[in-house]
Amino acid sequence: MAANKKLLILPGDGIGPEVMREVRRVIDWMDRRRMVTFDVSEDFVGGASIDAKGTPIADNTLQAAKDADAILFGSVGGPKWDKLGFDMRPEIAILRLRKELDLFANLRPAIVFDPLVDASTLKADVIKGLDLMIVRESTGGIYFGEPRGVETMANGEKRGFDTETYTTGEIQRVARVGFELARKRQNKLCSVEKANVMQSGLFWRQTVAALGAAEYPDVALSHMYADNCAMQLVRNPRQFDVIVTSNIFGDLLSDLASMLTGSLGMLPSATLGAIQPSGKRHALYEPIHGSAPDIAGKGVANPLAQILSFAMLLRYSFGMDEDAALIEKACVNVLGSGLRTADIMGPATARVGTGVMGESILRELEKLAA
Ligand code: NAD
Repeated sequence: MAANKKLLILPGDGIGPEVMREVRRVIDWMDRRRMVTFDVSEDFVGGASIDAKGTPIADNTLQAAKDADAILFGSVGGPKWDKLGFDMRPEIAILRLRKELDLFANLRPAIVFDPLVDASTLKADVIKGLDLMIVRESTGGIYFGEPRGVETMANGEKRGFDTETYTTGEIQRVARVGFELARKRQNKLCSVEKANVMQSGLFWRQTVAALGAAEYPDVALSHMYADNCAMQLVRNPRQFDVIVTSNIFGDLLSDLASMLTGSLGMLPSATLGAIQPSGKRHALYEPIHGSAPDIAGKGVANPLAQILSFAMLLRYSFGMDEDAALIEKACVNVLGSGLRTADIMGPATARVGTGVMGESILRELEKLAA
């Protein structure tokens, strides 16, 4: 039996606690099967934390996040807290976690599960079997670069500006995440920028190329302009294995790639920090969907993105690839049996709520592990 692993669970708001409940059942199941014992703690975050503690994320919660081996995050936000000042918005919790834990690499897989191939707006023969990973740099670039602002020029006209900026170290550390992931997958990395029109893009390309040649000669590295990448993602997405790119291009391309799969309630994500001298790496896992206030409390939310986020956590933080694969297989099999939450209904499928979907995953796990 593996040693205890410290897991901090932050369910958050809206459907967050509902879908997280189903993950807790998977964790309990793993515990019962004595595959692994987790040292689980749970805390408020976002609106729930504003209500309970008067702040989107309390200092002791941040400390617990730093101490944890991995964080499983639900989602935050909702109309109840929309009118609060910027510093008190539930989303501040995510920003603080990213900043204080220096979570710089955002991993967004886009996977099309066979039973859901018709959920995509693209043709099935283009999308079937898709399994790509986008690594987005998430703490630098134009969203944070200085100088930024709006100024009045000598002629009285105003000018708004932001700065795209990346250092060698910032590019190398996110590119390393891409190279390492590629090694565990199909060994292909595509680095994306606008080297044709941006100095920082050219610098990005040269830095990634030099790193590849020096440390990852075994990985097939290619380079692509961001506009072409957007086109290629729609034309032939299966050509990609791992894509690594800057904050702004990753923002756009990962949303595009997510929507290739056609189902928001299915998509997990991870955000990783640097590997520390102790070998530990901060990591936060969360579904890409928000708190879905329109369906919160109705018991209809799809728990699969949250469950698949937990599978990612097992794979990337705890090296438990087999257990992660078991959970993913259970999800695919349940979908294959025709059970669907409302958001992913298709022809000849049966509609179930959050709890029944969770129960069905547990039953399938029992079967697979028997
Ligand atoms: P959303 O992702 O919450 O919802 C978009 C649509 O998808 C809604 O119709 C919702 O019902 C549906 N949906 C989302 N997840 C689903 C699931 N698991 N099962 C079934 N249907 C699902 O995005 P939004 O409506 O733009 O935002 C709602 C709130 O969530 C806002 O306060 C926003 O700020 C917040 N938000 C938080 C995060 C986060 O915590 N990381 C991310 C995005 C949005």
